[in-house]
Amino acid sequence: MNTLTRRGFLSASAAVAVSSALPVSAQGPSQRQRPKPDAKQSRNVPIVISSGNGLRSTTKAIGMIRTGADPLDAIVEGVRIVEDDPNDMTVGLGGLPNEEGVVELDSSVMHGPTHRAGAVAALRNIKNPAAVARDVARRTDHVLLVGDGALKFARRIGYTEENLLTEEARLAWLRWRARLNRDDDWLQEDEFDLPARSNTGRQSRADQKPIPFTYGTIHCSAVTPAGDLAGVTTTSGLSWKLPGRVGDSPIIGAGLYTDNEVGSAGATGRGEAVIQVCGARTAVMRMEMGDTPTEACLYVLKLIASKTKLKRLLNAAGEPNFNVVMYAVRKDGVYGSACMRGERQFAVSDERGDRLEECAFLFPER
Ligand code: ASP
Repeated sequence: MNTLTRRGFLSASAAVAVSSALPVSAQGPSQRQRPKPDAKQSRNVPIVISSGNGLRSTTKAIGMIRTGADPLDAIVEGVRIVEDDPNDMTVGLGGLPNEEGVVELDSSVMHGPTHRAGAVAALRNIKNPAAVARDVARRTDHVLLVGDGALKFARRIGYTEENLLTEEARLAWLRWRARLNRDDDWLQEDEFDLPARSNTGRQSRADQKPIPFTYGTIHCSAVTPAGDLAGVTTTSGLSWKLPGRVGDSPIIGAGLYTDNEVGSAGATGRGEAVIQVCGARTAVMRMEMGDTPTEACLYVLKLIASKTKLKRLLNAAGEPNFNVVMYAVRKDGVYGSACMRGERQFAVSDERGDRLEECAFLFPER
């Protein structure tokens, strides 16, 4: 294990650069299959990285950073584009609701230069939880506000309430609700006109219609030309969740962690798994110890895999049957992302332009 201290990290960037160029054969099977995006970079700032749904956000944020904006302001404005987009059913307006049909949003922010953090959880009726989280960091002495308290705070400082449940999300929730239990009094669409229902349960053509289920969130981390960092994660969380369920996104150290001396990391995917290994904090700690961002992301995923013990969460091969995607960027602009399985992309904006890149992965798609 590389045991570089933080002081060592800062004074030995050359050593880190060498470690990022280690032969891929030393890094486990998943990395051998894809080029490591972080292998050849040196100082690459400013940079903004994001989850695959965040290309508009990284583009917006890097533009603001180039004109001198604070990195946190830049990424909060960047993710606002996706929070405001009713067609993204994983974030903000249009996010899929909880089991009662109510949209509840989670978000956290961290500002590297001041090491301030702010977060809101289970926030209703306000479509930009990332901005509210930033206000928690800036205007209060607290880090996390939840539920009614978060909503009251947002109202008091001038946020406008609105209905976040779009018609598309409401219809998806109705389909999910109707399919939940064949023996309750909710009917599926093609049963509305049937004269009677059998006591032995119903089989409906509507069973064939897909019901969206998100895992989905936007994470965004940025580094300015001066090497200052910020991070944000914002989400509507797991669709059909229990009211009050809080995922990893608003938990500092789980869905987000930023250390101005080291780097910033975030997570999307099954929040319960990320919380249980303090995912983002662990990724930043691994970078502090000398891992490249991609290695740090893979480390967290391996940790999650090794700690996933419940049979209902494992596939036939004994691997987690859910996905998690980790994102990480180092203070010098070296970046990476990795997913638990399959093919995923993440967004990058830097001097080479705005683009989607392939994530490394721990397990191939089965
Ligand atoms: N991580 C989010 C949560 O667990 C959901 C997601 O990213 O899909 O709430």
